[in-house]
Amino acid sequence: MRITSVETILLQIPYDIGGGPKAIAGHPATMLNILLVRIQTDAGITGWGEAFGHAVAPATKLVIDNMIAPMLIGRDPTDITALMSEVNRNLHLFGRNGPLVYGVSGVDIALWDIAGKRARLPLHAMIGGAVRKELPVYASLLRYGETSALEKNLRLAAEQGYRYIKLHEVNPDLIEMSRDVLGPDIEMMVDTNCPWTPAQACAMVERLRPLNIYWLEEPIWPPEDHAAMARLRAKGMPLSAGENAGGLHDFRKMFEVGAVDIAQPSVTKIGGITEALKINAVAESFGVRVVPHCAYFGPGYLASLHIAACLEQEAPLERLYMNLETAPFSPFTLPRHGKTSVPQEPGLGCDPDEALIARYRVN
Ligand SMILES: [Mg+2]
Repeated sequence: MRITSVETILLQIPYDIGGGPKAIAGHPATMLNILLVRIQTDAGITGWGEAFGHAVAPATKLVIDNMIAPMLIGRDPTDITALMSEVNRNLHLFGRNGPLVYGVSGVDIALWDIAGKRARLPLHAMIGGAVRKELPVYASLLRYGETSALEKNLRLAAEQGYRYIKLHEVNPDLIEMSRDVLGPDIEMMVDTNCPWTPAQACAMVERLRPLNIYWLEEPIWPPEDHAAMARLRAKGMPLSAGENAGGLHDFRKMFEVGAVDIAQPSVTKIGGITEALKINAVAESFGVRVVPHCAYFGPGYLASLHIAACLEQEAPLERLYMNLETAPFSPFTLPRHGKTSVPQEPGLGCDPDEALIARYRVN
């Protein structure tokens, strides 16, 4: 089998978060960017991947189209380890994080989709077997920054059956209010996206301690300051990080100093399924729990679902709490009662709908 084409497809789907400013990672937006990767073969098998994403999607698309795709044409797609090693080595001097690695990630996911389809096995069966057929999903609320929209969406998520709810707030008044709204029985996580100095983070942990936070995510700027995270972690609040790491060795450095309780590799950013599996193994060796980061709705979401289903310790899957004009890859991206099933069809288990591509493709 040989690769005959590698194509990127940028979709833009209107979305709404139910109030507050519309933004992802500080970037104002009303359209969700989804960057698909389609790899076709001479055997008639097509693989789908997803590369990160959101505001950086146009840059990632250029990388795949101009730098990665030419290396793949004519190659055997089932030789994933060797192929990814070659691509990574050829690209390394252009950067070991950011759009280059995001591009590699999207391609790697598509190659695993092909491998699963060729073997007629779902991805989870290719990577060791699912421990569970259904996963809890957590509602990952975006930052509202104000009381009324936050309260409304917290109540809505709880009514919809989510047992894990994550905030992206940094104002401690709003975080305290959220615990009051949710009550003691829903697990509440707080994702801050790297806002504080180590001293500010220490003070915040003291203030938030009574709220029984399930994990505090990326409290310190910059995300590379693993030593400061390790010192903060000594205060006893569970800390998580990893969505901004560049690969296996970034995670190893994080684990070696004891920076996190929970590692959050992001499959569309970290180098794909191949790299994510290595990180899972190293995390296990350090006694660190893995809960994948998953801020996307395409093949990356499906890959995260398969990977999380194979983890020994249950990992709730992240689902951005937003309404999309059309939900791609349903039913898997549409949790019911805070849960979603693990795909059982070969590969990732769900191809994109061609009509959806025709309607939302912009590039
Ligand atoms: Mg996060």
